[in-house]
Amino acid sequence: MTPELVAWSCSPADIGNSPWSRLPKLKICWCSRCLADDFAAGRPAHIRQDWVIAAIGFCHHHRWPLEDRCNACGSSVWAFRTPARGALRMVCTACWRPLERSFPPALEASNAIRHCWEAVIAFEHQIMTALRGKTPDQFCLNFTSAEQVLREVRDISGLLISSDRSDWAPVNAFPCAAMMPGHRLPEFHSTDAPHPLASARIPLRRSLLAATCAIVMDAGSDVALLDPGVAPAIETFLSRVEGAAIDSFIAAPGRWSPSLIQRIAETRRATRRSASIARLKGCISAIDRAFA
Ligand SMILES: [Zn+2]
Ligand SMILES: [Zn+2]
Repeated sequence: MTPELVAWSCSPADIGNSPWSRLPKLKICWCSRCLADDFAAGRPAHIRQDWVIAAIGFCHHHRWPLEDRCNACGSSVWAFRTPARGALRMVCTACWRPLERSFPPALEASNAIRHCWEAVIAFEHQIMTALRGKTPDQFCLNFTSAEQVLREVRDISGLLISSDRSDWAPVNAFPCAAMMPGHRLPEFHSTDAPHPLASARIPLRRSLLAATCAIVMDAGSDVALLDPGVAPAIETFLSRVEGAAIDSFIAAPGRWSPSLIQRIAETRRATRRSASIARLKGCISAIDRAFA
């Protein structure tokens, strides 16, 4: 498992040489429905392996958004507790409520929202397949190897959160309200921190994964993942992210899949063509005005 795709509270990259520096610590999200299943079955609550993978924003068993905050009080600090009766439970240590309570807006999610969740879950499934060293489904990600899927996820999520020009992260140009039911879309700030998925909170993680999914799977996806009125994801990616940064990844032999590189080249050609036509139309109307 590559450490950049594991969720860390304190990442191995932050560890200094000092013996007093902090130890790397995994960041654990949870699925309230898995915990509710544990409770209903009378078995001890337990952490699933997928809950520490930074390339996962949903429980694939329940098709349900993972959480990293108590739904009652918003605290992120939790602990295992054995109640007087019953099995071990995960509880919030601020309000002592159990974490199997689902977030009400998620329970009320519309079919359109669930459709977006399914699109991202399908993409995450391909990432998980790649993490196991298996070739992704070539129908969804044609001519793409397992290594290329993982590199594209790491590289593109890094490009979507960093910006030389402003505090505004390019991921904000890919609004997808379905990733945060019941919340207003936040403004994400740019950062140069390495491996953003590994340290991101769940709203940013899911937003990065949804945007990367829309960029990478654009041609094969029949889902309008992004909010209405938003341009095709690959066009937004090319207009919002510095071209030189994208080119440096494209120039590395075999780093990104040939299908993604080809779509980038085609989109750039189409954008240049549209710009030329717009310039030409501008010239024609200027001539028309001059001779009117
Ligand atoms: Zn679950
Ligand atoms: Zn709480």
